[in-house]
Amino acid sequence: MVDPTSDLGEDVTEETAPRCAVCSEPIVSEPTHRVLTRIEDGSVSTTHFCTSACRSEWDE
Ligand SMILES: [Zn+2]
Repeated sequence: MVDPTSDLGEDVTEETAPRCAVCSEPIVSEPTHRVLTRIEDGSVSTTHFCTSACRSEWDE
């Protein structure tokens, strides 16, 4: 019996995956995954994007 949600061999599912900040798609080992890390008020803020296109849309 194979669990269909764990066939990637990782603990990332659509429920635990980060969401794209622009289109809200869950990011499950996307090869085009982009991460923006900033320091805000002394703590680290991480923003995820599914593609570089969403990443550049965020900048506008
Ligand atoms: Zn996106």
